[in-house]
Amino acid sequence: MDGRFWVGTSWKMNKTLAEAEAFADALLRAPRPDDPSLVRFVIPPFTAVREVKRRLAGSDVLVGAQTMHWDDSGAWTGEISPVMLRDCGADLVELGHSERRTHFGETDEAIGRKVAAALRHGLVPLVCIGETAAEKDRGATASVLERQVHGALAGVDALAAGTVLLAYEPVWAIGAGGVPASPDYAQAQHALIRRIAAEACGAALPVLYGGSVTLENCAALAARPAIDGLFVGRAAWDAEGYLAIVDRAAAAR
Ligand code: PEP
Repeated sequence: MDGRFWVGTSWKMNKTLAEAEAFADALLRAPRPDDPSLVRFVIPPFTAVREVKRRLAGSDVLVGAQTMHWDDSGAWTGEISPVMLRDCGADLVELGHSERRTHFGETDEAIGRKVAAALRHGLVPLVCIGETAAEKDRGATASVLERQVHGALAGVDALAAGTVLLAYEPVWAIGAGGVPASPDYAQAQHALIRRIAAEACGAALPVLYGGSVTLENCAALAARPAIDGLFVGRAAWDAEGYLAIVDRAAAAR
């Protein structure tokens, strides 16, 4: 791993343009944490990506989108292409979130195509993986992670794969009612995911943790050596919450 520590938030289907801009402005007002290895990113809804990126352009905060299609253009009503995301100034793209897999039928194969397309267009893919509670209960966590990582990295060579980020987001841990993974459990799965990814593509990929990260648990998670970053939902949807988690996690490294 390159020693960088990533802290980002996806806003899901939340925030008007004015709210998104206010968040970006709060980031601009806050002092940049001293730690040069810290990478911050925000993932607004599509409608705010361009404006948030425009506002944050002079900062080191990266801006992403929550999904995209694999094709450059064409008859894909309602979809957004990697070309369009680059046109908005996006730096990265979240792919394979469990809500996309569950509600929109995204398969490992589709996610693999999207990863390859993102890399072709210079976008950093942030690929979410993780087992459901039922899969965990029947002891299938390792095989699910293996299938998801191999699917995401199919067709990606070691050189290109070097810019892929993985986010371990156990489905039972995310969203309302989610129970955060313990630091021990997360550490063990991250170590496993690192091994699977290295076998799949020959590169050492950073693995971020996501799932009910809060101001209270972020330091313990960030201190684990196989956790290369935090991907935060609800606790970071206001700028103050996000900035507090960034500071506390950075201090724990
Ligand atoms: C998520 O849904 O990806 C997520 C990390 O959400 P939360 O932090 O709210 O559990």
